[in-house]
This record gives sequence, C-alpha cells and structure tokens, in this order.
Amino acid sequence: MTDAPQVTEEPRVRDHGGGIWSIPVPIPDNPLGHTLVYVIETDAGPVLVDTGWDDPASWRTLVEGLAACGTSVGDLHGVLVTHHHPDHHGLSARVREESGAWIAMHAADAAVVRRTRASDRREWLAYLVGKLAAAGAPEDHTAPLRAALEGGRGGALPGARAALPDRDIEPDALLALPGRRLRAIWTPGHTPGHVCLHLEERHPAQGASPGGRLFSGDHLLPAITPHIGLYEDPDSDGSTDPLGDYLDSLARIAGLRPAEVLPAHQYAFTGARARVGELTAHHAERLADLRALLARRDLTPWQLAEAMRWNRPWEQIPFASRNIAVAEAEAHLRHLVGLGHAEAVPGSDPVTYRATD
Ligand SMILES: [Zn+2]
Ligand SMILES: [Zn+2]
Repeated sequence: MTDAPQVTEEPRVRDHGGGIWSIPVPIPDNPLGHTLVYVIETDAGPVLVDTGWDDPASWRTLVEGLAACGTSVGDLHGVLVTHHHPDHHGLSARVREESGAWIAMHAADAAVVRRTRASDRREWLAYLVGKLAAAGAPEDHTAPLRAALEGGRGGALPGARAALPDRDIEPDALLALPGRRLRAIWTPGHTPGHVCLHLEERHPAQGASPGGRLFSGDHLLPAITPHIGLYEDPDSDGSTDPLGDYLDSLARIAGLRPAEVLPAHQYAFTGARARVGELTAHHAERLADLRALLARRDLTPWQLAEAMRWNRPWEQIPFASRNIAVAEAEAHLRHLVGLGHAEAVPGSDPVTYRATD
C-alpha cells in the first residue's frame, strides 16, 4: 500500500491543435468506454461535435472538460451531431438548455429521433417481435418480449428525452461556422443520417498537407467495425440497403484523403485510406462467407446469423447481442440480394434465402 492521496480523475482532455480539443465522456457500463466529444473554436463561440451519454457522471465530465479547454457550457454556440445514437446525442438537450446553443443533425436521423419520441414501449416491442419472427427467430427467443408485450406496460422509450434538432445538416454544404471551414459529408450506413465533418483547413502538425482533418463519428474507427444492421423504420418498404450505403460512404471518405481522422471512439489516427481498405475487405469476406453458406442450403436470416462467424460461439452470445447479430446478417443478406447473388425462396414462411449463382 502507498499513502498517495486519493485524487479524483481529471478528464483527459486533449488539445489537437488549431482550435480543436477532445473530451472523453464516459458511457456507463459499456465496453466502448467513452465518446470523444470534440470542441471546435469558432468566432461565434465553441461548437461541439456530439455531446455524450445522458448520465450525471458523463455530464460532469463534459462540464469539467470544457473548463479544461478554457470555456464553459454557457459559452457554447452550437452542437453538431454525427448521428442520433445515445452515446452521441444523449446530452444535447441538456447542453441546449444550459447554453441556448442550436443543435444540428442530418434530416434522416432527425426523423428517427422524432419517431422514437412519439412511440411507446408497446409499439416498439410489437415491432421488434414481428421483425424477429419474420427473420425466423425461434419462439423461445421472442418469449420474453411477448411476455412483456402481454404484460401491457407502456410508457416512453429510453430515447424519448432526446432533443429534436433545430437545424438540418445539409450534405456537401459548408456549415455556418464563422472563421472555420467545415463541410458536412453524408455517410449513411451505421444510421440513415450519419454525417462526417471535414475540416478543410491545413493540419497544424503536417505543414502543407491539403487533406485536412475528418470528424468521423462512428463511421470510421481505428480498431472496431461499426455495427451495420437494417435501418429501424417500421414504415420502411424494405428497399433500403444500409450495407451498400455504408460501403459507398466509406469510398467517399477515402476520396477525401484526410491527413488525420478524429473518431468518436478510441483515438485519433492517420491512414484513413488504409483503414477504409481494411473495412471494405472485412465486409467483402463476410459477404463471400454468407454466399457460401446459402449455396449449401436455404436459410432464414436467423439461421444465417447462427451459422456466421462471430467473436464467440452462438450459444454464448447473450440475448440482446443476438438481435444485433441477426440485424447484421440481414444487412449483408439485403446487400447480396441487391447484387443478385441471393434471393428469397418463393412461398417460404418465415422467408428463407438461397444463393443464385
Ligand atoms: Zn453509433
Ligand atoms: Zn458511438
């Protein structure tokens, strides 16, 4: 034992140079650890990229982090949200309350926020049960959801308090940030309205490098593959192809050749093109595996998820993660169908798929 005094852990705020800082805002009980909230200095006051999870400790970290950057919540001018997920948009409402800052988001994700605020738990459960049953989930998997549905407990969904944004982030447009040159790049895939933000300014550490820096949200992370499932839209006609969107969005980002990537999780990194190459190869391999499985026998999306390779055996994958896994299988399947490599077997119920070539 040492007799070192107990100190409260200071937020590890990082100065990225050129009027950009990051604040690691914790995500409670989540292996991801934290969201990197970025602070961009502008002539109208500091602007945030994302806000972090809605939790008292996370809020404290954000407040202390802003102080360490030499500013405060009350000084904030605006909030740019990369996408609607709660680890990015959770604290936006509180930030706006305390500062009067505007909140901007792409319209497709604003629509998700609007829908989540309007729907209640029962509607959501009914949607989820229907979706899982259609994917071929066994009765014992949907039983707890059906029991909760029959139990009749309504009420708000966890995202019901999420802030409705004040303005749209328009794809390809320069954002109205006095003194800065920041362009919105629409990168659907992880969510329908995900955006990356391209700082078209000289990177302070790299002299004349023209590529600037890219706030990549969850789209491009240094060592994790973002989750790509189906867009959760009860009104969808089933024609969307989130994985196809994601792969297109990756190619768009690689074309920007940013000198540095500032992601929302993990750490800042260089080599965006190489990382895009790895992610593209990862999905190509996954698609090839799925085609091989479907060439062997007809499978429902659920059976396909069971047969796919995961980071642990299927039996050990917990309930909620199985729902995520089946969504990922469906996204890959949807893409294969779009490419003409797989098709639904006519008359099958729940629908099974087979390889076409
Ligand atoms: Zn996300
Ligand atoms: Zn995230």
